[in-house]
Amino acid sequence: MHDLSKLRNNINKVDEEIIKLLSERRKLSKEVIKAKDESDKPIRDQNRETELLKKIIKYGKEKGIDAHFLTKVFYEIIEDSVRIQMSEVQDLTGQQLNGRDVITVAIQGIEGAYSFLAANKFFAHSGKDLEFVKKKRFEEVVTAVEKGEADYAFLPIENTTSGGINEVYDLMLNTSLSIVGEETFRVKHCLAALENISINKIKKIYAHYQAAAQCSNFIESLPNVRIEYFADTAMSVEKIKEEGNPEFAAIASEEAANLFGVHILKTDIANQSENYTRFLAAARKAIDVDPRIPCKTSLVMATAHVPGSLVDALNVFRKFNVNITKLESRPILGNPWEEMFYLDFEGNIKDETIQHLIDDLGVYTRFFKILGSYASQEVLKTKLEAFAVTEEAPSSEVKKEVKVEKKIKSKKSASYKLASRDYKSEDTIIKVRDVEIGGANFVVMAGPCSIESESQILSCAAEAREHGAQILRGGCFKPRTSPYSFQGLGYEGLEMMERAGKRYDLPIITEVLAPDQVIEVAKHSDLIQIGARNMQNFSLLKEVGKIHRPVLLKRGMMSSLDELLNAAEYILSYGNRQVILCERGIRTFETATRNTLDLSAVPVLKELTHLPIIVDPSHALGERDKVIPMAKASKIVGAHGIIVEFHPEPEKALSDGPQALYYHQFEEMMRDLKKL
Ligand code: PEP
Ligand code: MN
Repeated sequence: MHDLSKLRNNINKVDEEIIKLLSERRKLSKEVIKAKDESDKPIRDQNRETELLKKIIKYGKEKGIDAHFLTKVFYEIIEDSVRIQMSEVQDLTGQQLNGRDVITVAIQGIEGAYSFLAANKFFAHSGKDLEFVKKKRFEEVVTAVEKGEADYAFLPIENTTSGGINEVYDLMLNTSLSIVGEETFRVKHCLAALENISINKIKKIYAHYQAAAQCSNFIESLPNVRIEYFADTAMSVEKIKEEGNPEFAAIASEEAANLFGVHILKTDIANQSENYTRFLAAARKAIDVDPRIPCKTSLVMATAHVPGSLVDALNVFRKFNVNITKLESRPILGNPWEEMFYLDFEGNIKDETIQHLIDDLGVYTRFFKILGSYASQEVLKTKLEAFAVTEEAPSSEVKKEVKVEKKIKSKKSASYKLASRDYKSEDTIIKVRDVEIGGANFVVMAGPCSIESESQILSCAAEAREHGAQILRGGCFKPRTSPYSFQGLGYEGLEMMERAGKRYDLPIITEVLAPDQVIEVAKHSDLIQIGARNMQNFSLLKEVGKIHRPVLLKRGMMSSLDELLNAAEYILSYGNRQVILCERGIRTFETATRNTLDLSAVPVLKELTHLPIIVDPSHALGERDKVIPMAKASKIVGAHGIIVEFHPEPEKALSDGPQALYYHQFEEMMRDLKKL
């Protein structure tokens, strides 16, 4: 007879021994990273891992333990080791908290919600206390961090059953926050109720809509159940507690059910038992990820309006041998049937190869924004199955070295890069709804200097449409020399213009004067104008650089072409790759015209830059009779279009009347241009 308790005792001793050894191994792991620290070696050494696993399997065979079991155990051990080494070299919160001991984390939902649970897991290694700022909507979570109410936003981004969380993708596009980390969390839904009653008695279920979608098979199997949607899983548990009805149930995590002290009627009710949600941590300041840590970078881009530009963009990743781990597309709000692409790829933005990749990628994009580089949560398993069966040395899977072609930079374009022909040799074509600006097209933008009334802009829009102008211009915020001059109708004018544009099916362009107008004006117009007086208003340039509406940048009246291109570079470098340059006359000693139209800017700029260039003869000449010949000359010298002012009654115009064309002159100009 075996002595069971003695055997169990022995097993306990062995287990203790295993734990001691694991702890010993962890200590050695930390020593290893210190040694690697001195030598600057990466944390992962997959060749060494392969060798290690091979040895273990061989030794295991001798001891009668199968390879499958040992690989499983050692995958866990290696992963643990990698994580320990990662947290040794990367103090995630240190870079942002300046020594504070409490981390404030904004989440959508309450205690027990999946965001809450995943955030606890994510920050577990930080050794800091967590304080939660609980919000109802994702947007409020982001705003809380932007405004400094919390240190981190912790948001779900995708689920392996129900897919991407669109609202969060859209928020990432517009926020100034950077992604600083990710966490995948296994979602295990259960059905919870106040009392332990039979599931068939349940009449109503409260659930988050995503959770309900993930448990649809289970819900359908229940007779006579009504479903009511809730903002988060934990809140639905809170709700059944509040209501006190034993026939009401909630779908939530087991943790939430336990937290609220309710009964779990059934566990694992999701359609897919393997159900994971990936969360992102975002902060005001981007982090520098230690180069030894496996790193991911997320970006969002809109590809150029050229057939095959997405394929070209993706080929850049192949060229640099960089692995894309995620590609998701979202419609661009306000531009039906156009898409933004969200990409995650393996690599660190600080890495030189990745910098070159980003440079190349930019050529195929019209909007570009890096969302952040962060430690990859996924510890990729060293492939071993193939080696387990053979004792042969593994064929090395070391990544091919990518030879980075260093671009030869011409001396002329040292101060700007993205705007230069060196960077992008083909002409950039900018699409504003159906109108293409750039390449071989000649586009006419026309309208009044200022929007003055609904009837005025409607009349101008009708005139523009009738005679073939493709874009309606008009100022709502006016930059005036005198503070006593008409300053524009502001947003009220913009509404009038938007209605006129819609009615006559014309895209609209209007000027912004201040950074805080940019987002609102961009929502209601198709093209944003930066006026001559603001060409070097750098905070305004940065702001329009962050949006994804094309920008018309006018040359300052005292600016060189080099300064104009550097101003464009500001916009491009902030992500917005859709800039149209505009020559509108410069100040010279000549006083016979308002300004001197520098038409030589057109061929010069066409050589220096891939960006489209248009001409504004109205503001340059300042006198209506001289506008038409210069408009025609603009086409002859190769401009991609013109922007001109006209008015139904120029004598009554509230701004720039003397240069406004009469309708009959505008019609004549359009006829003449067609002949060229
Ligand atoms: C305008 O287009 O109405 C305008 C003010 O032009 P600029 O900035 O070229 O003077
Ligand atoms: Mn004007």
